[in-house]
Amino acid sequence: MLHRVWGFSDFRPLQREAMHAVLDGRDSVVVLPTGGGKSLCFQAPALVDSTRPSDPAAGSRPPTARRGFALVVSPLISLMKDQVDGLRVDGVDAAYLNSTQTSSERDEVLANLKADRCRLLYVSPERLVGEGSQAFRRLLRQCGVRFIAIDEAHCISQWGHDFRPEYRQLGLVREDFPEASLHAFTATATERVRHDIATELRLADPLVLVGSFDRPNLTYRVLRRGSLRKQIQTVLGRHEGESGIVYCGSRREVEDLAEWLRSEGHEALPYHAGLPDHVRASHQEAFLQERADIVVATVAFGMGIDRSNVRFVIHASAPRSPEHYQQEAGRAGRDGLPAECVLIYSGADFVRWRQMLEQNGEYTESARLLLRDMERYAAGTRCRHRALVEYFGEPWTRGECGACDWCLRELEAVSDATTVARKILSCVARVRQGFGLAHVADVLLGRASDRVVQCGHAELTTFGLLKQESPAAVRGYIEQLVAGGWLARAGEPYPILRLTGAGAALLKGEGTCELFRELQPPKGRVRQRGDGGVSFDGDPGLFNALREVRAGLARQRGVPPYVIFHDTTLKQMAERRPTTLDDLHDIYGVGAKKAADFGDAFLDAIRTWGRPE
Ligand code: ADP
Ligand code: ZN
Repeated sequence: MLHRVWGFSDFRPLQREAMHAVLDGRDSVVVLPTGGGKSLCFQAPALVDSTRPSDPAAGSRPPTARRGFALVVSPLISLMKDQVDGLRVDGVDAAYLNSTQTSSERDEVLANLKADRCRLLYVSPERLVGEGSQAFRRLLRQCGVRFIAIDEAHCISQWGHDFRPEYRQLGLVREDFPEASLHAFTATATERVRHDIATELRLADPLVLVGSFDRPNLTYRVLRRGSLRKQIQTVLGRHEGESGIVYCGSRREVEDLAEWLRSEGHEALPYHAGLPDHVRASHQEAFLQERADIVVATVAFGMGIDRSNVRFVIHASAPRSPEHYQQEAGRAGRDGLPAECVLIYSGADFVRWRQMLEQNGEYTESARLLLRDMERYAAGTRCRHRALVEYFGEPWTRGECGACDWCLRELEAVSDATTVARKILSCVARVRQGFGLAHVADVLLGRASDRVVQCGHAELTTFGLLKQESPAAVRGYIEQLVAGGWLARAGEPYPILRLTGAGAALLKGEGTCELFRELQPPKGRVRQRGDGGVSFDGDPGLFNALREVRAGLARQRGVPPYVIFHDTTLKQMAERRPTTLDDLHDIYGVGAKKAADFGDAFLDAIRTWGRPE
């Protein structure tokens, strides 16, 4: 069925186990990274006909038995629509119910349910367990809910990155659908989130499956924010004509950067919660349909963005937790081809987050710790892949990743790091542990700012001690000392630097430390091969011709291009140049329905393109 319906030749890791849990009716929590193929784990079992007798000699299914359907809870309307569109293109009877539909559309869905003509029904949590939804649940139960899949299940936990109170109500489904097993799916892997999910949903002895969070096809880089636009430009230089997302910390920054990128000749669109709904929807649509290359967005963008050929994700400021970072950066390279994730940050980002969270009354202990973990990742001084994988509780087994700024040697160890560190620590001591990072950096750099002069700090012996270094490097060192526990940064409303016990000891001459400065990452296009990356040996011209065919079909059907075929599929076509429908079946991502619907269009294009020399 996997091959016939979806055109996949193998299961991805844990998909088979996850499907067995569903078919066996055992509750489960399935944690797979973004792009790991969670949807298939509940979509495929929904198509297995459980009422058909296993012994074919016993005859066909009694006419009275219902096949029933899988109920999928999904938080976002766009996500639902994409998945249902995708399933329909594959020839699966799927539907959704949400507030965007007219009542006649809804009636049609309900009629199909009652007639047992629906295999998967997507609903929002509000619709399923919101006010006055009891009758709705009763109706669903009568139509035969076989099992319930809860997508984005981390929304139930405040340790996740997208806590939604309405998810808490989902515990109700256990009572109202006692015969259906519950299956939670998420990309957030920490133990605390997993635990919350199992408790809140009242799962019974769930099978917990946690996939690997290693994404070898992604290259991670972290840069300290200097001249932001120049830094962004350098990243874009490595991705000419490719698409990506730039995440920003504020709406204003979104608008600024989007406008600037457009003035630089990029098809860039802004996306944030302050834009009217229809503008947002149209920008998202333009990105999905590949009419726009770059979306500049606040975190409001992206849940449910299933565009698989995102080649880069830039964060112009730090997100509020590694969970967020992994989620957002993880939108790159979902097709398994090489992609790049660049975090451009400064220590000020964390101060801003704290203030914002405090204002909203959301600065809980969990929020504080998550913010601290994010800061540690940013200022961290080891393999980024390894740092993320270990953060999510997985042992690291690969050695050097070959795909992060550390392993690519883009950061240089400072030769006399301990001396540099002592200079910084002594400056913090000289200003009596009463000033913030920017001030201390000014003193070290020998910048006689008004404040430095006023405080008499231009006379200190530490004034100008590091004047041969760049401001970004000095700030970077200070942040590394904070992250490494030699300095602490705390205080209201402006955090100040003070020495920790370890810092005082280092200053006195006990121990050593390492510091790093950024070298330049490659400017031009890089041919990087991650372990999971797939290299492309076909004709790029043919690939583009196939993309055009795809764009035409997508327009005709009013669906995003990736719903027709992924880039991976088109690349294989361009490499192997299938000539018959049979050949086409062997290509990744070509199921029977798609081959029948679209095969000729692509075969024609390949034929017209001519033979390779
Ligand atoms: P997730 O929800 O875990 O982020 P998706 O379910 O959207 O991931 O799957 C990501 C991509 O991987 C989709 O394009 C999907 O078609 C593809 N995919 C899923 N399972 C397989 C498989 N077994 N073989 C090949 N591709 C797969
Ligand atoms: Zn690495």
